[in-house]
Amino acid sequence: MKSFTKDFTQQEPICEEGIEKAVEIMRSGKLHRYNLAPEEKGETGLLEEEFAAYMGKKYCLACASCGSAMYLAMKSAGVKAGDKVLCNAYTLAPVPGAIENTGATIELVEITDEYTIDLEDLEKKAASGVSKWFLLSHMRGHIADMDRITAICNKYDLTLIEDCAHTMGATWGNKKSGSFGMSACFSTQTYKHMNSGEGGLLVTDDADLIARAIIHSGSYMLYERHPSRPNLETFEDINTLIPNYSSRMDHLRAAILRPQLRNIDEQCRRWNERYKILEQAINQIDGLTCPERDPKEGYVGSSIQFSLNGQSEETLKQFLATCFEQGVELKWFGNSQPVGFTSSYDSWEYFENLPDLPNTKCILSAMCDMRIPLTFTLDDCHLLGEIIKNVSQRVLVPR
Ligand SMILES: *Cc1c(COP(=O)(O)O)cnc(C)c1O
Repeated sequence: MKSFTKDFTQQEPICEEGIEKAVEIMRSGKLHRYNLAPEEKGETGLLEEEFAAYMGKKYCLACASCGSAMYLAMKSAGVKAGDKVLCNAYTLAPVPGAIENTGATIELVEITDEYTIDLEDLEKKAASGVSKWFLLSHMRGHIADMDRITAICNKYDLTLIEDCAHTMGATWGNKKSGSFGMSACFSTQTYKHMNSGEGGLLVTDDADLIARAIIHSGSYMLYERHPSRPNLETFEDINTLIPNYSSRMDHLRAAILRPQLRNIDEQCRRWNERYKILEQAINQIDGLTCPERDPKEGYVGSSIQFSLNGQSEETLKQFLATCFEQGVELKWFGNSQPVGFTSSYDSWEYFENLPDLPNTKCILSAMCDMRIPLTFTLDDCHLLGEIIKNVSQRVLVPR
């Protein structure tokens, strides 16, 4: 039986242009974002201008991580201790973590077989009036029906914040993911769509929100140095009322991100070439299904998820172990203990009274997840499909 030998955590190198710029900055010793000559925007400021332009948004703030960007976005929008924040139950640990950090509690919403938020459950919870905040996580790049989401938010006066850690470069209809909410947060952590090791980007059209976020991020009184900001009056009445949470991005990271941003759409196209090969292969295997995707969803397939429905936990574990023996690293969302980057909502025990979400639990218990690094060739993707097929035929119990 064939096996796969490439590393699922191997990203492409940082491009030479970024490396050169990073070396130049290190030689200058001027790494801090406010370590600038008068009138100089600096790499961090330029990245913010360029990302705002890419997103078609007025403002962008570069942060230490997407987790810190989400925290700043919620604090700056007015989330307070004791508030409830609606959130889909299929997401990654930094999302509930950011909510907890604001002192708010989480109101988890079920997901559907397509791995997106269950809009009926959302509407039911929105109608109950328990919350006016909604942090929507486009987890693993699965985008729910944003037309219906927008209608629900309008109807119940919910403020939407988007977690776009996996949807940089993605669209719904003709709008970019991240342009539906009051603000949106992106990650530039190594395994996302641009790689600076760690990093986050917050975008918004709201002048008050960005002014607060800039001050919260740790601007000292240097907010006038931000090229992507509203006029200075916006800051004047609030600048001493907002604590400094020190979550800035430095020039080094911004310098390696700027050339990546110029190439992001091409990278997304390459991910989708790989995704489509894998999706087709997996959907042809008995017992395995990839979710159907709405024609309006312009997703970026930087990872792939599929369900093994109707198999026992025993068989599932054997499937994962056999894939692993053949070099195919799959993650599983059904594990009773959180492992690596996957986690199930019931492991966020720092929230009291986590609800029972039978649908989500059932969907996660059958869901497998595979990274698609761009260091994999199209042939690699064909081979991966073949191996998963062989393992399935050997291990799965026919239904
Ligand atoms: C990675 C990730 C985040 C957090 O990003 P960091 O930059 O690591 O803080 C948030 N949401 C989702 C869905 C993620 O996958």
